[in-house]
Amino acid sequence: MSIAENIKKYKNEVEGEGVTLIAVSKTKPKEDILEAYEAGQRIFGENQVQEMCEKQTELPKDIRWHLIGHLQSNKVKYIAPFVELIHGVDSLKLLQEINKQAAKNNRIIDCLLQVYIADEETKFGLDFDEVIELLRSEEYLSLKNVKITGLMGIATNTKNEKQLSIEFNEMKVFFDGIKLSFFRKEETFKELSMGMSADYKIAIEEGSTMVRIGSSIFGGRPAKV
Ligand SMILES: *Cc1c(COP(=O)(O)O)cnc(C)c1O
Repeated sequence: MSIAENIKKYKNEVEGEGVTLIAVSKTKPKEDILEAYEAGQRIFGENQVQEMCEKQTELPKDIRWHLIGHLQSNKVKYIAPFVELIHGVDSLKLLQEINKQAAKNNRIIDCLLQVYIADEETKFGLDFDEVIELLRSEEYLSLKNVKITGLMGIATNTKNEKQLSIEFNEMKVFFDGIKLSFFRKEETFKELSMGMSADYKIAIEEGSTMVRIGSSIFGGRPAKV
């Protein structure tokens, strides 16, 4: 199927469940993004700051750019003028830098805290206790130019559906608890970004509100070096 056909298929499927589709276009050329754009897609996810900035400069201005991967503090300034949502916030220090750069741009930047749910050593993210500690800290409470609109998680890279369900369910239960404890009156805390090409169906069953789908839409990427 073409990129345009894939976009229509996935948009239909996930939006029918009330879930937002993030088309993950990392490593893919601008022509591919334009094809998806012309098929109606507006939200694109990238994981490299420089690549996202280059694409943002050259592609239509109503594209909504989401940074989905690990973000280094020293690169926040480049995306602060335009990024719509930062999915992978995994430290107070990073949140403070986003706040600083957002203020310089007269913006409030929406962020998701990345929670560590996978049974793997290599993934970034905060554990449950660290999320709570961050949300309780004076430093966090003083930040005026960031808004935490939810949580993000990456499940273990496994075909074991039972395990995936358990991990996504843990994430949803934690999300509900955090909502009650810290964001009870804030309607803007509502996003649970979980699910990728291989596991989005299970993620949606378990309560995802945003899926990040790349290879199933745009085709495979070269293996990481
Ligand atoms: C690359 C990436 C995705 C998309 O992965 P696919 O398997 O290609 O759908 C989703 N989330 C994050 C954080 C990624 O880095």
